[in-house]
Amino acid sequence: MNTNASTQGMVVHYMTILNIEQKKEKYGLDLLEWYFQIQRDLPWRKNHDPYRIWVSEIMLQQTRVDTVIPYYNTFMEKFPTIRALAEAPEDEVLKCWEGLGYYSRARNLQAGARMVIEQYNGQVPTTVEEVAKLKGVGPYTSGAIMSIAYNESVPAVDGNVMRVLSRFFLLEDDIAKASTRTNIEKLVLTMIPEGKARYFNQALMELGALICSPKSPSCLICPVMEHCESRIQGRELEIPYKTKAKKARVEYRVAVIVEGTGSDEGKILIRQRPNEGLLAGMWELPHILIDDSNAISLFEAEPKEQPELGAAISSFVYNEQKLLVRPYQWYSDEEHIFSHIRWKMRFYKADMDENLEVAHLNEQTEAVQVDSKVAQLEKDSEAALVDSENRVSDQLVAERSESYNSKVGSDTATDKGSQYRFINEADMNTLPFPNLFLKVIQQYWKKKEE
Ligand code: SF4
Repeated sequence: MNTNASTQGMVVHYMTILNIEQKKEKYGLDLLEWYFQIQRDLPWRKNHDPYRIWVSEIMLQQTRVDTVIPYYNTFMEKFPTIRALAEAPEDEVLKCWEGLGYYSRARNLQAGARMVIEQYNGQVPTTVEEVAKLKGVGPYTSGAIMSIAYNESVPAVDGNVMRVLSRFFLLEDDIAKASTRTNIEKLVLTMIPEGKARYFNQALMELGALICSPKSPSCLICPVMEHCESRIQGRELEIPYKTKAKKARVEYRVAVIVEGTGSDEGKILIRQRPNEGLLAGMWELPHILIDDSNAISLFEAEPKEQPELGAAISSFVYNEQKLLVRPYQWYSDEEHIFSHIRWKMRFYKADMDENLEVAHLNEQTEAVQVDSKVAQLEKDSEAALVDSENRVSDQLVAERSESYNSKVGSDTATDKGSQYRFINEADMNTLPFPNLFLKVIQQYWKKKEE
């Protein structure tokens, strides 16, 4: 049995070597015939405008077509030309991207649009070398723009294309390696039918998206199944090989929904992240990394039993903004996964009694005033505990804040130097938030109305 299987495999490979050029040609013909019959009517396929194709390819990275369509339509309505995008405030661009994730894509796209205005008189360049130099444009996107917009024979190889071709040719190389991608790009270059680059590259993508899916390829209705080596050998679920990505690092973070008082009554405190780094330029609730050896046990315990977490975030907000806030109630636990980090977040509601507000303290009197405010806070915290079982005890006892703060690691650079402001619900319409904070804040407004 084993001998037969292995002999069969050898025969198939022998035939492959003999017929490789014919197989490539047949592949192109079958694939294009299928594509012309089934191609989806997608908004970025209405014409070959390089700007429209560029935007779509950036949006489609890491994101499904169905998810992208409404975002794409809104984005093109708002920024119909490269100039409109280049000249828009960054907040507006990020707002249009809100919910799509991977926000550096939006910032890079806008930076690329500005390069086109400044260096190419507003016209997307027409050589692959120039396109590849635009901010945020890698080998795949430059290939997609060059082939789809200009019909140039340039490969556009992403994960889908690597999977489809690895299976068809039974390529056993690790697709996580750069060398494998380079080899597949060379292979595609030899397969593009003359004058059909635009359609061939899109057909490859379409095959990967609709038929040759990662977990359950529909081989029986596949237009290239007749010569697909992996299918012939029954190995389509084994191929492609890919070494597993490193596990995401877990970060424990405590965040606070600070409810304003006085002129900020009915508003909450948010901050804008710096213009570089993770989620650059986005708005969020104040939060801090808890980076000591107890972080896991603190987050696993009941939320109301963590005065240390409340103290840490209070101390942080005070250091950043000279605002004394009192986390008084656990709000929710949430998780947010980036490609390399997993945030485990605990949210508290916090108040800021007018008597507790010490913003913009005169430097000379600061120490005295803080001492008296802290004493007040200790009393308030005790009262808060009596008030409600859910309330977090004595978070703002100054000594505990200070001592705990010395135990928490200094946060990433992105947590420093942020801009803070109080907002109401309507302000949410103009400021861009990452999904996690958008969800928590929207829930907060909703509960408040109930
Ligand atoms: S036959 Fe199956 S494995 Fe081969 S390309 Fe088609 S869907 Fe993919």
